[in-house]
Amino acid sequence: MDKLILIKYGELTTKKDNRNFFINTLEKNIKNLIGEDIIIRKDRVRMYIECDNVEEVALKLQKIFGIYSIVICHKVNNNTEEILGKALEIMDSTKKTFKVVTNRADKNFPTPSMEFSRIMGGLILKNSDFKVDVHNPDITLTIEIRNNGTFIYTNELKGAGGYPVGIQGTGLLMLSGGIDSPVAGYLTLKRGVNVECLYFDSPPHTSIEAKNKVLKLASILNSYSGHVKVHIVPFTEIQEEIFKKCPDTYMITIMRRMMYRIAEKYSEKIGAKIIVNGESIGQVASQTLSSIECINNVTNKPIIRPVACLDKLEIINIAEKIGTYETSILPFEDCCTIFVPKHPVINPKLDLCIDYEKVLDYDELIDRCINNIEIISNFEENKFEDLL
Ligand code: ATP
Ligand code: MG
Repeated sequence: MDKLILIKYGELTTKKDNRNFFINTLEKNIKNLIGEDIIIRKDRVRMYIECDNVEEVALKLQKIFGIYSIVICHKVNNNTEEILGKALEIMDSTKKTFKVVTNRADKNFPTPSMEFSRIMGGLILKNSDFKVDVHNPDITLTIEIRNNGTFIYTNELKGAGGYPVGIQGTGLLMLSGGIDSPVAGYLTLKRGVNVECLYFDSPPHTSIEAKNKVLKLASILNSYSGHVKVHIVPFTEIQEEIFKKCPDTYMITIMRRMMYRIAEKYSEKIGAKIIVNGESIGQVASQTLSSIECINNVTNKPIIRPVACLDKLEIINIAEKIGTYETSILPFEDCCTIFVPKHPVINPKLDLCIDYEKVLDYDELIDRCINNIEIISNFEENKFEDLL
C-alpha cells in the first residue's frame, strides 16, 4: 500500500516505564473508535495505519487523545531514486518554495540525514520549478528513512494531544446539561482518565428533554472516548425532602452536599478514583470559595474541577471547539435551576448545614438513590436525539 497514516505519539513518549502500556491503550482506543477494518503496526516512536480511506480516518484520528500529530504519508523503498520520484509526485505544484527535512533512523542507509536533505534538495531543484527557502518554505518535505521503508510527507495534521483514555483509571463526572461540565469531562478525558457520568435526574420537576440533553452531551464526550456511560440518579425524593424541610437559603448548599455524598458512595461502587465536576470559582452562589469549602466537606474523595479557574468565555470557547456548546444551550432546565431559591446563601456555614440536615434521613435516602441508578452505555440505541 503506497499511502498510509503515520502517527506521532503525544506526551506519552516522556513516560518511559509505561510506554508499552500507553501505546497498547492508544491502539485499542483507535480500533474501538475507528473500527477493526484497519491494520495497525507500531513501534516505540511511531504507529502506522493502513486502511482504504486514509483522509477520512486521519480526520477521525484528530479526536483521539495521546496523538501529537497525524501524517498521511507515502511509503517507498530506501533508495534515492524512488524517494525523489515520490517527492516530485506529492509536492503541490501550486506552491513555490520548499525545504527538505530528513530523519534517518535506519543507520544502514549510507547517507547521513543532513547530507541526504542537501542531495534531495539539489535533485528537486534540478527536476522542477521549486525554489529553496529554508526559513519560511511553502512546503516542508519530510523524509523518514526507517528499517521498514522510507516515509515521505508534506503536511502534518495536529493531533488532540494528551494521554490515551484509560491509562489513568476511571473518574466519575457529575454531568449536568450546562456548558461547564461537558468541558470538564473533555479536559479530564484528555489526561487519560476514563470518564463515566453521573446525572441527577428529578422527574417530574425536570423534563425528559433535560435528560436527553445530558445523554446527547454524553454521546459527544463518547466520541472522544468510546467508553462513556451515564449513570442516572433518581434524585426527586431527596430534592423534595430538602425543599420541604430545609431553609430556602441553604437548599442549594444542602442539595450539593447530597450530590457529593452520592457521587462519593457511587464512585466507590464502580471503582472511580476521582470525582470530576464543572464548578468554576465564583460563577454562582454555590461556587464561592466558602460554598466550595462547605460542600466539599462531606467527602474525602479527590474532587477535580478542570474549569475551576477558567472564565465563562474561555469555557465557551472550548465547548464550541469540542462540539458540546450547541446542545448545552438548549433551554431545558435541570434539577438545580428548578429549585433555585431567590437568595441562596453566598457564605454558607458548615455547622448550620449539619444542623439543617439533621431533619433528613439522608443515609437511607442516599442508599435508595444508589440502588435505583439506571445505567446507559449504548448511545446508538437511544432515541434521545429525536426528542431534542
Ligand atoms: P454547568 O454549566 O455544568 O451546568 P453550572 O454553572 O450550571 O454548571 P451548577 O448548576 O452550580 O453550575 O453546577 C455545578 C456543577 O455541578 C456542574 O458543572 C456539574 O458538574 C454538577 N451538576 C449540577 N447539576 C447536576 C446534575 N443535575 N447532575 C449532575 N451533575 C450536576
Ligand atoms: Mg448546571
